[in-house]
Amino acid sequence: MFNPKSLKAEEFISHEEILSTLEYADKNKDNMELVDQIIAKAKERKGLSHREASVLLACDNEEKIKEIYALAEQIKKDFYGNRIVMFAPLYLSNYCVNGCVYCPYHLKNNHIARKKLTQEEIEKEVIALQDMGHKRLAIEAGEDPVNNPIEYILESIKTIYAIKHKNGAIRRVNVNIAATTVENYRKLKEAGIGTYILFQETYHKESYEQLHPTGPKHDYAYHTEAMDRAMEGGIDDVGLGVLFGLELYRYEFAGLLMHAEHLEAVHGVGPHTISVPRLKRADDIDPDQFDNGISDEIFEKICALIRISVPYTGMIISTRESQAVREKVIKLGVSQISGASRTSVGGYTEEERPHDSEQFDVSDQRTLDEVVRWLMELGYIPSFCTACYREGRTGDRFMSLCKAGQIQNCCHPNALMTLKEFLMDYASPETREIGEKLIAEEVYNVPKEKVREICKENLVNIENGKRDFRF
Ligand code: SAM
Repeated sequence: MFNPKSLKAEEFISHEEILSTLEYADKNKDNMELVDQIIAKAKERKGLSHREASVLLACDNEEKIKEIYALAEQIKKDFYGNRIVMFAPLYLSNYCVNGCVYCPYHLKNNHIARKKLTQEEIEKEVIALQDMGHKRLAIEAGEDPVNNPIEYILESIKTIYAIKHKNGAIRRVNVNIAATTVENYRKLKEAGIGTYILFQETYHKESYEQLHPTGPKHDYAYHTEAMDRAMEGGIDDVGLGVLFGLELYRYEFAGLLMHAEHLEAVHGVGPHTISVPRLKRADDIDPDQFDNGISDEIFEKICALIRISVPYTGMIISTRESQAVREKVIKLGVSQISGASRTSVGGYTEEERPHDSEQFDVSDQRTLDEVVRWLMELGYIPSFCTACYREGRTGDRFMSLCKAGQIQNCCHPNALMTLKEFLMDYASPETREIGEKLIAEEVYNVPKEKVREICKENLVNIENGKRDFRF
């Protein structure tokens, strides 16, 4: 039975409820009165339920879709301004005991190079990332209790935070590792992580079990209930995601929103972020083997609908997507993007992009300087801000600030100050020129006068060699 407050996976992600949602959506997709009502509700900026959002996803009326896109754009502007937060993934180890059929790190792949970074190698990788200008990382690892135990992950986090090289510092480490115990989540929290990210891959239990035939990840309930354990362990910023391409996208979309509703119902705080990865070609993986690939148009529609359904949740897009697709979805709601990513273990210290231990092909292969310049040319402010969790603005504290519209007085100046650091320390002359102009204009968009004045002072301080200011 469907119950968002239940702690049982099969009750808060109820298969029957999803099927009935999809039936309801099909029945009502041409019911323009209802579609208008749902759009009007979304305009109140309080989000939509999985049922309401599913009706809009099924609706193929061009006028209505245009209206949804315009609303997504507006909500994005209202909540996130024109800031885009930058990050990079860091692959620690590709040892893995699972049998995920879509991932080249699966146990039976015996020709992929298996690598696990030593602490010295991590230091080199992190210095390479710092030298590009990164301040935020998402660490990634396969699941392997012997090669990648929690102690290894914790030690690696400690190493990363300790590296200070020139003006560089990684100030926020997000973690994308397999579902684990409350005790381990508590340890991750104590290690000072930002967001705990875990992709559901698919919410469809039967498919999930087939796609994860062997290894600990096979356990659907353990995987699906991971975010509740993370919250119990004290991590209040969690990141959801599904891997689009594995199952029917409409099923996944309803499941994803039900998961968000569940977190809100049980813990009083929804997901901090939602990622929207699409299945990619990789070592022994051909995405065409999977029947559920989605077109760019559907992908854009999903992004726009996530934006209007969960306005307070950040949305992340990786370099799995091309520059062109990224440009479209940034407009429709994405608030964080990775730049200059390498998805191989040890990839950042290699001259050439290595492919031997890569997790998936990277579509957007530009440098961070190029991505930053491109964003600014499109009118966005690339932000390297990490202030929120360092100031304790996590979970419901972050959400309530966001709901009170106060984030603009923190995020906007923080974005400008961290961009200024990037321009001073890492940017090419061309990027710096564009950036300085942008900052000079954007500083006037800090709403509170007092904050604006401090921000201006700090920009001068940064020019004079000081670093790491934040609101
Ligand atoms: N091993 C951890 C886990 O199981 O959650 C860490 C995650 S893994 C390093 C990061 C994510 O990459 C996976 O959750 C999956 O969604 C995605 N991924 C795996 N194979 C992929 C592929 N061929 N194309 C695109 N994304 C893929």
